[in-house]
Amino acid sequence: MSEFRQLPAVSKVLEHSALVELRSRFSSGVMTNAVRAELEAVRSRLKSGQAGADLDAVAAAVVRKLHDTEAPILRTVLNATGIVLHTNLGRSPMAEIAARAAYEAARGYLNLELDLGSGKRSSRQDPIRAGVTDLTGAEAATVVNNCAAATVIVLRALAAGKEVIVSRGQLIEIGGNFRIPDIMATSGAILREVGTTNITRLIDYEGAIGPNTGLLMCIHTSNFRVRGFTESVGIEALAALGKKHGIPVVDDAGSGAAFDLSVHGLPDEPPIAHGIAAGADLVLFSGDKLLGGPQAGIVAGKAELIARIERDPLMRAFRCDKMTLAALEATLRLHRNADRVCETIPTLAMLTMPLATLRSRIETFAERLKAVPGIRLLEVRDDVSYVGGGSLPDIAVPTVVLALTANCHTEEQFATRLRSGMPAVMARVHAGQLLFDLRTILDRQLDDLFGAIAVALREDSL
Ligand SMILES: *Cc1c(COP(=O)(O)O)cnc(C)c1O
Repeated sequence: MSEFRQLPAVSKVLEHSALVELRSRFSSGVMTNAVRAELEAVRSRLKSGQAGADLDAVAAAVVRKLHDTEAPILRTVLNATGIVLHTNLGRSPMAEIAARAAYEAARGYLNLELDLGSGKRSSRQDPIRAGVTDLTGAEAATVVNNCAAATVIVLRALAAGKEVIVSRGQLIEIGGNFRIPDIMATSGAILREVGTTNITRLIDYEGAIGPNTGLLMCIHTSNFRVRGFTESVGIEALAALGKKHGIPVVDDAGSGAAFDLSVHGLPDEPPIAHGIAAGADLVLFSGDKLLGGPQAGIVAGKAELIARIERDPLMRAFRCDKMTLAALEATLRLHRNADRVCETIPTLAMLTMPLATLRSRIETFAERLKAVPGIRLLEVRDDVSYVGGGSLPDIAVPTVVLALTANCHTEEQFATRLRSGMPAVMARVHAGQLLFDLRTILDRQLDDLFGAIAVALREDSL
């Protein structure tokens, strides 16, 4: 025990001149916590037989810790992975006009729930309704925090205590522990699985319909595919079946492609308007996947069903904030000019960027890099990129990458240096090399990426 007495008291460290200087920048609570944490660390070093620390050393360590924790944890990442909808990196980068709408909403007041004409209260859903109904062809629309929340509230409002018929082939886990059977249980609806993993036919649904059936549901299997001997029921046939029995049909479209992406050589994600046109009563999709907007869960469909959903008490818990709504309204406005969305919505511009453009951008970038010291290998080559890490991992598009290795660092060290830079850079590590895909780098970020790579290539420690 005796050696622990060498530890200075918390109050002594706080009175050290190095910490007194910091009193104008940190509250006493923050400084006290930092001192306690450092003393705790010294104590456990002593316990394991290592050297202790005197007052000056403890104070210096606390000052370092306080400085280190001053930079925000959330910071800009230059996404050189080529994965356009990267959930860990915040999914869709928004259009400048949408980002600015969120910024203006954040820094002041706005008519969030106020009709400026009459001066009366309005619904925060009003600004997004027309944009969504235009896009989907639905009668009405509402929005909640994300598509997971949309699924919960739809199931709860329309089918609590009732059976919801879903194909076994569609009982997916979307990621982040979002599993359809669990969501069903949480909402109070009763899951009624039909068919098998690979085959579900219309008669399977029809045979399961009974007096307690609340909904028929079709879930887009965004993140996996069943290949080979398979059969599933399209939304048209399911909608017709629902109509025949007077049961609402819900289409969880998930990724929410605003238009048919196959015209750009991308695999056919069913456009969101397809569900309503095919007769679905409700369609659900995310705001931050292929729509290219903020995180949101959009519900479009029959006015009577939307009204029931909006009356559910969970609506208050799931409602979007002012920044999201402002950004979503702006994004939906961009979608009104469908011919230009591949220029105006960054997510769609990245996804549809022609191979020739990718090649010329990367060749210009590689040419510039050649002059930077510390490079062992630099090569431009063909590869594939994926639309979405977790959201649409199955959709691969041809791309061009820059393969790089450093003189003084292994690929793991190089990747770590890039990640800990300011701005941080995420590249792909593959077969001993770092691969950079400029598809997901905006033009205005090219200089920053160049600078970050040059710094990471240096021999010194960061
Ligand atoms: C992504 C996805 C969801 C979840 O959407 P979030 O907006 O991430 O909550 C739900 N259903 C499907 C089919 C999806 O692809």
